[in-house]
Amino acid sequence: MEKIIQNTHYDAIIAGSGPGGATVAKELSKRGKKVLILEWGSGEDISWHPVKHIWQALKWLGMPGRGLLFTRGFLGMVRGICKGGSSVFYYASCFKIPHEMLKRHGIDVTVEEKEAKKELPVGELKDAMITPMAARLMKSANDLGYPWKKIEKFMYQEKWKPGYPFGYYGDPGGVKWSARMQVDDAVSHGAVFVDRARVKHVIIRDGKAEGVVFKKGGREYSVFGSKIVIAAGGIGTPVILRASGLKKAGYNFFYDPLITVCGVVKDITARPDEIPMTGGFHNEEEGYVITDMALPFMIDAGFSAEVFRFHRLFSQKKTLRIMVKIRDSLGGKLTDSGGVRKGLAPEDRLKLDRGYEAAKKILEHAGARGIFRTWYLAAHPGGTVKIGDLLDSNLRTEYENLYVCDCSVIPEPWGLPPVLTLVSLGKRLAKHLTGEDVKKKPAAKKAVRKKPLQKKPAKVK
Ligand SMILES: Cc1cc2nc3c(=O)[nH]c(=O)nc-3n(C[C@H](O)[C@H](O)[C@H](O)COP(=O)(O)OP(=O)(O)OC[C@H]3O[C@@H](n4cnc5c(N)ncnc54)[C@H](O)[C@@H]3O)c2cc1C
Repeated sequence: MEKIIQNTHYDAIIAGSGPGGATVAKELSKRGKKVLILEWGSGEDISWHPVKHIWQALKWLGMPGRGLLFTRGFLGMVRGICKGGSSVFYYASCFKIPHEMLKRHGIDVTVEEKEAKKELPVGELKDAMITPMAARLMKSANDLGYPWKKIEKFMYQEKWKPGYPFGYYGDPGGVKWSARMQVDDAVSHGAVFVDRARVKHVIIRDGKAEGVVFKKGGREYSVFGSKIVIAAGGIGTPVILRASGLKKAGYNFFYDPLITVCGVVKDITARPDEIPMTGGFHNEEEGYVITDMALPFMIDAGFSAEVFRFHRLFSQKKTLRIMVKIRDSLGGKLTDSGGVRKGLAPEDRLKLDRGYEAAKKILEHAGARGIFRTWYLAAHPGGTVKIGDLLDSNLRTEYENLYVCDCSVIPEPWGLPPVLTLVSLGKRLAKHLTGEDVKKKPAAKKAVRKKPLQKKPAKVK
């Protein structure tokens, strides 16, 4: 297989298979392009055996230095290193696209958003999927005047049955949509998917990207293609770009820190089919979003232990929990190997404190007692290779044929879950790479390097 990979010239090589990369791969292969997807993590099937799956989650999300990174103040940051990226572990919440922000940078994805919403299972959950725990929080928040509403989810609700566990330790019913499904779609249209293949750097000659060097099983390989799309996520992409000569990647980014706030209720018991983030509200002015949050036993106990609430290690079934996530200010830097160096700015602590106060009131009104907040965590690293800074509005770097499509491209602090935005950007990039957008659109708004953009992808050699 490795021989075939090396001897083929691809229309597009995509590094990373999270929502950004998987969407570009799917869209290009659907259009008949020869696509190679290189994924650092494992592509093995998700195991439905509970013990095996916990082991997979530890390897893919919880391994220090890989999925789990720590930064200043012992703030933990998680990302999925596996086929589908972080979307394998995400909460499947579908938040609005920041159209105003993107339009300020010459990007309009209204058409792509419509396409994505038509293709993907997006919708508010039916009432049967809102458990008494989540309903109690919504009622309490509404009583207090907070605009708490249901959140749209990426879930195949028709496949859901009472008792189905949310995909924390596997998703036997296939209810949660993830980018894995886009990868499978791409492969069914002829794309080649190689797992455990870590892209090291891009091969650049005379200002043009020609291929990538990746490592698999201790060996290095070179592959060549007409277009190279780096989609290794908010941390992975700048590491590859720096190694390829773009030394300014990986500075001044966001990671959307969060805390959870929880208390114990006597009169309700958590069900096995609790779904996280079924409802909540966004306080845009104060820069935080608040949602309900259901956690499985292992994570619930871990969160309690982190803040020395050992007496609450076994209270998961009685715990009512809220998540507070903020729009943090840009800052920090990554090391060349992807180490995260960013602390919480005083204004970010203030936002978390304000969110905590609101969450505490909602919990108290809901009848919860023994309320405490958990330690800081972050799950949306982005803005490390911003549009308008290192990328033009077509997501192209200063090198010809080298593009980025993942959370790194987000140009400004934002603070909301990004998957719908990334899928829409991926669709738009695929149209650009196949020249479909040329008639409709003027030249890129801010071309970093002023060279004409290719109208058609180069022919496969
Ligand atoms: C617990 C959790 C809950 C979340 N909940 C939500 C939610 O409800 N809604 C929402 O919209 N978002 C949510 N998110 C965030 C969302 O999952 C991510 O923002 C999104 O997956 C980012 O997509 P991406 O394409 O930027 O990259 P990623 O998903 O990070 O994928 C990048 C891929 O690149 C691979 N890679 C990295 N380096 C290399 C390399 N050198 N070579 C090859 N491959 C490489 C990685 O293994 C990974 O597969 C959540 C995240 C987490 C962790």
